[in-house]
Formats: sequence, C-alpha cells, structure tokens
Amino acid sequence: MSAFVIRGAQLADGTRTDVRVDGGVIVELGTIGTADRTVHADGLLLLPGFIDLHTHLRQPGGEGSETVLTGSRAAAAGGYTTVHAMPNTTPTADTPGVVEQVAALGEEAGYVDVRPIGAVSKGREGVELAELVAMARSRARVRIFSDDGSCVADPLLMRRALEYARIVDGVVAQHAEEPRLTAGAQLHDGAVAADLGLKGWPAVAEEAIIARDALLAESTDSRLHVCHVSTAGSVEVVRWAKARGIRITAEVTPHHLWLTDEAARGYDARFKVNPPLRTAEDVDVLRAALADGTIDAVATDHAPHPAEAKRSEWSAAAMGMVGLESAVLVVQAAVVETGLLGWPEVERAMSRRPAEIAGLADAARPIAVGRGADLVLLDPSARRRFDVGDLAGRSTNSPYLGQELPGRVVATFFRGVPTVLDGRVRAPEEIGAAW
Ligand SMILES: [Zn+2]
Repeated sequence: MSAFVIRGAQLADGTRTDVRVDGGVIVELGTIGTADRTVHADGLLLLPGFIDLHTHLRQPGGEGSETVLTGSRAAAAGGYTTVHAMPNTTPTADTPGVVEQVAALGEEAGYVDVRPIGAVSKGREGVELAELVAMARSRARVRIFSDDGSCVADPLLMRRALEYARIVDGVVAQHAEEPRLTAGAQLHDGAVAADLGLKGWPAVAEEAIIARDALLAESTDSRLHVCHVSTAGSVEVVRWAKARGIRITAEVTPHHLWLTDEAARGYDARFKVNPPLRTAEDVDVLRAALADGTIDAVATDHAPHPAEAKRSEWSAAAMGMVGLESAVLVVQAAVVETGLLGWPEVERAMSRRPAEIAGLADAARPIAVGRGADLVLLDPSARRRFDVGDLAGRSTNSPYLGQELPGRVVATFFRGVPTVLDGRVRAPEEIGAAW
C-alpha cells in the first residue's frame, strides 16, 4: 500500500493541515516536510469519508439497474467510503448466505465498505421473522435490519424484531408507511396531487408508524432507526420520542431536503419516490431538524431503475431516484448555502452519526492520527451543471440532471487508496495498483 501526503487541506472546523497516510492509516498531521507523493489540497475541504445508511445496490437479481460494483463506483464518486446495502434483492438478503455474498462482492469491487442490511422478515413478506441473529453472527456481521421498500406493518413482528436486534446490539431501520393508508397512493396528499388528479399519500401514514414504533422501542428497550423521514409531523414525533429518552434515530434524504411535490406538475417520473416529495413547509422543518440534531443523518435512498421503468406514465412508473453521486452537492445547496449547517454539522450527519448508528467505531472518530484513511476531498467553491457524466452507477434516474449544483468531489480515499482522483472515478484495475 502506498504512502502519500495531502497538502494544505482544510478540515471541517477550519484548521489547515497536511495529512500523511501510510498503510491505509493517518500517521501524521500538521506541517509535513517532503513526501514522495503529494495530493495538492489548497482551498479544498477534507472530511471523513461519507457513510450511507440506505443504499439499494440491486444485486443479486437486479443487475440491469445496478450491481455491487457499479453502485460502489457511484458511492465513491459521491465521496462515500461505506454504504449499507438494502436487502430488497432477489433473493432477499434474509439469510447468512445472501448477506455474505453481498459483502464478498463489495470486497471484490474494492471501492467502498459494503455492509449488508439484513431483512427483518423472510422474503420481506412481513409474516415470519428472518434469521436476524444468524446474519449478525455471519461473516457479514449485520447490525442493521430492515424490510425497506415495505413497512414492517405487523406490530407483533416489529416488537420481535426489536427484541432480536437488541440481542446483537443491532438496530431495526423502519420504512414507516402504514400500507392500509397508502394503497394506490401516488403523490403527497395535498394541493398538487389534487390538481393532478393523483391519489394522495397522507403524512399520517408515516407519522403513525413512527409513533407506534417509538413506543415499541421503549417497551423493549431496543434501538429504532427511522428511514427517510419526510414530514413535519414525523419530526415532531421523533423529537418527542428523543425527549422521552427512547433510543430512536432518524435519517433524511437529500431530495427531501431540496425538492417539493411541485416538481411533479410536469408528470416527470424522475420525481416519483417513496416516501413522496412533500411541501415547502415540510422541507423547511426537515432542514431545521437536521441542523438541531433531531434528525441524525443524511441517507441517500439511492434507488437505481432502468430507463424504461421511469418512461411510463406517472402512476405506472417505478418509485425512486439515484442519489449517491449528488448527495453532498444537494446537501451543500440545501443546508450549507442557506446558512443552516456548517461543515462540522455536515460531517456529523454524513459520517459520524451514520457510523455510530451502524456500530462502526473507527469511522465514528474524527480525522486524527491512528484513524483509518477513509477520506473525501471536496471543492465547495465549484459550481456547475450536474449531468449524466457525473453519474458513475448503471442507472441515470437522477432528478438533478441539467441543474446547476454547488460543490465537487475532487478525491475519495478508501482505506488509504484513491477511488476518485481529480474528480474521476478510477478504473477497477487502478484500485489495487500502486499509484
Ligand atoms: Zn424506504
């Protein structure tokens, strides 16, 4: 493994420093003398690599949309060094065999740490509990369990899942959506849905499940994580639960911090997503909740789909958008440039808190001597049009294509090896090679 110095980088707190990396570890900080290999970082911001709690890599079974390799490249392009792969694959990641397969594909790809999320129920059918403890004790060391894409709607199954997750010091990540309240729903239940004649998706379908699950987590003394919080009411419930001492954490997606249901007026299915885009008022509350820590983390819900799945009419189109490559750019636009968050808070929301929630001790530490060299180098002063060339995964269902976005990922280092250099994702054969 190669040694190098990142020279003149600025850390989140404004400190300027050189960073020497050797053997995949940060070995020196401060003013560093000569080095064989230097990465010039004047004017650039150095943060711990981002950690995504919510990524759909689609493999096994959905390789037409994404694979572990292509999704890993998309992650690196966005400054990520760890992603958590959702289990809604074919077959479902609900056994030690499947989660170990996904983890092994991630190791082979070598761009990011791919950590599988195990399904809560067998086949994600919401009926029978999956092998939570066996997945936790497998080589994949699963710590997050989720039926994401579907809600664990049955309260008895949810309570059991919380109890089993506690045994392995894990967490249940709930896709909060009461299915009886969202059957056939197409867009946030509000003025835009009414104008477009689309069936409304009520906020209470999300909020009621979060409230129920918070109480179940309290009664079992277990940890609950709420996926993609999207409404002002959900924020209120999470805030109440935290104040009560319930062990609850929550994530928000970049798109719910930036886009509203108004974007659906053109019936452009790139804006169709689950949970749906909400109102400007919800967006304001979500931003404030991320700033004050009520919402712990930003998670992408990167959801690749082939072009044909998005080309059909709104009601038939697939739900979801890709988000790994654009995440930090949208976060900069939505909450940094609006003055709500500084870079230390971005570091907290995109790296430290996700690491803590997922039980990744080393990654939860700040940039310091002895820490693993999972790092991202950003140019916050950049501003350019986001286009299809910025996407490194297999699918192109991004809602931001053609939009001007601030910021740029200049380099990403995974275990001390550059996966992105000069804004370019390196080829698979370059990853293992000396540079
Ligand atoms: Zn979901």
